[in-house]
Amino acid sequence: AISIHGLEKYYGDFHALKNITLEVPDKQTLVICGPSGSGKSTLVRCMNGLETYHSGTLKVLGLPIGDDTKVMDQVRKRVGMVFQNFNLFPHLTILENCVLPQIRALGRDRTAATREAREHLQKMQVDIHAEKYPDQLSGGQQQRVALARALALKPEIMLFDEPTSALDPEMISEVLEVMQELARADMTIVCVTHEMGFAKAVADRVILMAEGEIVEEGTPEQMFNNPQHQITRDFMEVVN
Ligand code: ATP
Ligand code: MG
Repeated sequence: AISIHGLEKYYGDFHALKNITLEVPDKQTLVICGPSGSGKSTLVRCMNGLETYHSGTLKVLGLPIGDDTKVMDQVRKRVGMVFQNFNLFPHLTILENCVLPQIRALGRDRTAATREAREHLQKMQVDIHAEKYPDQLSGGQQQRVALARALALKPEIMLFDEPTSALDPEMISEVLEVMQELARADMTIVCVTHEMGFAKAVADRVILMAEGEIVEEGTPEQMFNNPQHQITRDFMEVVN
């Protein structure tokens, strides 16, 4: 589970997250949407310690996110993240991209890590590219490698930040399908996305952010069919 209470975040003088309170129970999928600059990425990056915050409480799997390196090592082992721009290591092969994090984060030996990596690359149907480098793959293929890399660590929670927004339209569905499978398999998921089909299919809750605040929160049904706020109505009109 993820528990957030009264979270505040500043970039210098700029108030980026304002009094964020949020609960993501185990096995649930939360979709975060909202206009550009509303603080979506900042919020998910706070959840695994990629961004610091100023006050409030933030616990992931019961672990307080902060600057205790032992705690944060635990968090990195147990929480996976997939970004918009794949973030693969360009100088490593596809296989090595998936092997190295397991050795570094989990201390697995190379044989076990390679077996695990190959299994996940196969599931994502990119195992034939194992010896290639990231720039030799399409965006959709790279994103499936990023998913394989994250899943090889057997995370308990997956964080996604617009994982399909840099993909060509024909590549989007193949990545969304994998994410939907994860959601249906009871992974705990937080996903920043404007893919409302995904939200309708698997989200338990949807939140809409604007200017660093949670403006509205509800089931996908409530958010699409009966939005309470003008900002939500405007937003849903644009993305639908
Ligand atoms: P987008 O949909 O464009 O990805 P977002 O909702 O993810 O937007 P954030 O990236 O969280 O928005 O940014 C929220 C606000 O914080 C923006 O106004 C942004 O300019 C500002 N911001 C983000 N990162 C930094 C930073 N490192 N330093 C200063 N300001 C930042
Ligand atoms: Mg963002």
